Amino acid sequence: MNIGQHINSIFNSNTYLIEDKAYDYCWLIDIGDTDYLIDKSLNIKGIFITHSHFDHIYGINEILEKKSDCKIYISEYGKNALFSDKLNMSKYHGTPLICNSNNICVLNDGDRVDLFPDITLNVIATPGHCPSCLTYYTDKYIFTGDSYIPGIKVVTNLPKGNKIQAQESVEKIKILAETRTICPGHGEMITLNSM
Ligand SMILES: [Zn+2]
Repeated sequence: MNIGQHINSIFNSNTYLIEDKAYDYCWLIDIGDTDYLIDKSLNIKGIFITHSHFDHIYGINEILEKKSDCKIYISEYGKNALFSDKLNMSKYHGTPLICNSNNICVLNDGDRVDLFPDITLNVIATPGHCPSCLTYYTDKYIFTGDSYIPGIKVVTNLPKGNKIQAQESVEKIKILAETRTICPGHGEMITLNSM
């Protein structure tokens, strides 16, 4: 399995492209810019959204226009936010975004999705930054969104943020991150034990 990082043009959020050379399809974690994905004519099977803030979802309609089979995975709260430009905060960026797709799969804490026959993505709910926050992990990588960015305090002063929940989520993530490469929602990928 190979992880490609793309730094998006809005707020430098990260999109991660998960590929495995043995298979002709791929997966994404979050979606911002889309040009480079469309140019590559990738077979994107699904997009796992870490949380429904604008900078982590803004390419959703563009990508679904080109890849209509692509499934969106998100938490229940996040699903509602995809259809509310207020909840996803796009309204305040001057580019209101309402998702066009019905191909949405709601994920809950403890869910698992097989990415490839031998690789499973595990889901944990990590609210605090936003109620929609999910963290995803395989045996080697953990995709933390904005729930945990090493060295940076979790932002909890946005609407529906919760400081206590954020701290609890960070504790959970840190344990999993000890043995995995951290792929945060902003900033660089980090492997703690190589530091
Ligand atoms: Zn955020």
